[in-house]
Parts: sequence; structure tokens; C-alpha cells
Amino acid sequence: MDLPPLQPEELARYARHLSIPDLGENGQRRLKAASVLLVGTGGLGSPAALYLAAAGVGRIGLIDDDKVDLSNLQRQILHGQSWVGRPKLESAVDRLREINPHVLVETHACRLTPANAMELISRYDVVVDGCDNFPTRFLTNDACHFLGKPCVYGSIHRFEGQMTVFATHLGGPCYRCLLPTLPPPGAAPSCAEAGVLGVLPGIIGSLQAMEAIKLITGIGTPPLGRLLCYDALHTSFRTLTLARDPSCRLCGSGEITSAENAETLAPATCSVEVANSISAADLRDLLARGPLVLIDVRRPDEHALAAIPGSRLIPLDELPARFDEIPRGNPIYVHCKSGMRSARAVDLLEKQGIAAINVRGGIDAFLAL
Ligand SMILES: [Zn+2]
Repeated sequence: MDLPPLQPEELARYARHLSIPDLGENGQRRLKAASVLLVGTGGLGSPAALYLAAAGVGRIGLIDDDKVDLSNLQRQILHGQSWVGRPKLESAVDRLREINPHVLVETHACRLTPANAMELISRYDVVVDGCDNFPTRFLTNDACHFLGKPCVYGSIHRFEGQMTVFATHLGGPCYRCLLPTLPPPGAAPSCAEAGVLGVLPGIIGSLQAMEAIKLITGIGTPPLGRLLCYDALHTSFRTLTLARDPSCRLCGSGEITSAENAETLAPATCSVEVANSISAADLRDLLARGPLVLIDVRRPDEHALAAIPGSRLIPLDELPARFDEIPRGNPIYVHCKSGMRSARAVDLLEKQGIAAINVRGGIDAFLAL
């Protein structure tokens, strides 16, 4: 690849990059030649855009059709007070130009849709997923898979954040390997309902910017098949293994053949990530450390057939009448067969002010460990 030269002003601007041996002038020229598409300029997209622009990514594309709202400013640091009520893209362009005039900022004042996703994403080298709803997240994932582009994924919920790189063309899993089907509307509370501490998207969005820069410059190792989980309350970073699912309808069986499919065509509900959840393997580790409150929301006949030791049966349909039985104070872990009913149970419990955590994949995943 013919890399563009750096001008004297750029050599001065990027001096601290140029003195990193792994990056150096060649890496900086790669950044200048590269393009990144940010899906959303909100909580995650803000810090990612700021750092990618400052780092000298040559072309940054922004997709957003939203206006700046006062309630955004607590975390969406790309936008400022004087831009309330105006398009986010306009404030983003102003801010990014101020940070680095060498960067070409392209704006796409729309939503990513099944009709435009392939064309838009095909124009960029790396995608940073900072969207706030499941259909767009599936769409970003699917289009990146079909186009062979890496997708830097980030998600946040209150005090917890997750980050990874999905890149099936590099042998890694895709988002559907983690979440095979679209959660039902309301399975995960929205940012507006659940709240989010403003610094959290700053941390996760910055991690996404770092991974985009690593992918572009080829330094380090991208977290393929590894989901980084940040728990702000307990100040811990953990890495979960995220295996490629051979039966994944997108990157495994190949059942899905187009970015226009049932998940991506679903109406967008403003929800973030599968809220407050842990993997079956993490549940096993927690159980090994000591007793915890684990509620099985399946039917009694399912519980009688096989149950996780120590779990307590409260079928989902009886849950609203039995909230009083649930001890308060410590987090409640909730499981079902595959994680869908328990997601609804977590939602019901959260609405009662009970901190609840869903076990992803349910007892099926637990028994398969
Ligand atoms: Zn997959």
C-alpha cells in the first residue's frame, strides 16, 4: 500500500507517536491512510471519535441522525452546551476539526439501515460500533461479516461495560455467536431507563479507539474471541472467552445470506446491551466461591428434571406475586433454560428495585460446561 507522507506540521503533532518504536512513522502514515466509520456519536462514539481524530486517522465517518439533548452532555463529550438542540453531526465536525484539522470528517445524517449498511461500511477500513439498539447492532455485525471488515464492539450498562473486536475474516466470532437472536423488546432496559455513569462510556469508547488504532497499525493483538468486561463498582477487568459458534446462523451455518434479515429489519427499540448478565462459566466460578441467591424461573417440571445445585424455583409467571420472597441486598442471579425468560425476570426484578443478573444461555449453557 502506498502510504501518504507526513507534513512537517504532522511530524510535530504526532511526535509522541513517532517515538513509539512499534508505531513510528510508518504506523502514523498507516493511520493517515486509514478510515474508520463510527456508528453513533453518543456515549461510546464521542470518546472514540475524539481519540481517533487526535491520533490522526485520515478519514473518519460519522453516522447519526440525532440532535444534542441536554441530558446527553453528562457523557457525550463530543457535544457541548452551545449545541443543545442542533444536529450531533454538526457539533461533532466542529469539535473534531478543532482537535485535528488534518482529519477528513465525513458525515452521514441518517441511521444505518439494511438498505444503506453495505454501501456505507464498504467505504471504510474499520467500524466502531457505538449504537444504542439491537437491530442496528445486528446490522453492523452482519454487514461487517459480509464485507470482511473488523467491527470494534462496545456496550455499557450502568457500571458495567464490554468491549471486543468481531472479525470473522480474521477467524474470530461474530456478535451473533454471543447473542444468536434478537432479544424481545423490553428485555434490556434503555440507557434512559437504566441510567449510566457518564465516565463508563468514556472508558469503553476509549478502549474501542485503541483497538481501532491497533487494527490499523497492526501493532499488538486484537481481542478476537475475547470479551473484555469492565466492572466499575468492583474495579475489575475480566476477559471472557468468546468462542466462534459453529452453528451461528451468520458465520457458522451460513443460513443468513444478506444484511437484510429478520433481526436487522426489526423495528429499533432504544435498548443497550443485554443488561446485567454473566456467562454460565462465570456463574460456575461464583458458585465455587460461596453460596449466592440463584433463582430458576423455569416451570416446576423443568426444574425437577435438572437443576443447578443451590438454585431456587420461582416460575416466571409466579414471580410478580412472590417478590417478597426474594432477599434484598445482594445481587440475585436468575436463570432459565436458555436465557430469554430469565431476561424478562431480570427486567421485572429491576423494576422492583432488586438488583438482578441474568445467566446467559441458562441451564443449557451451564450443563454444557
Ligand atoms: Zn457468528
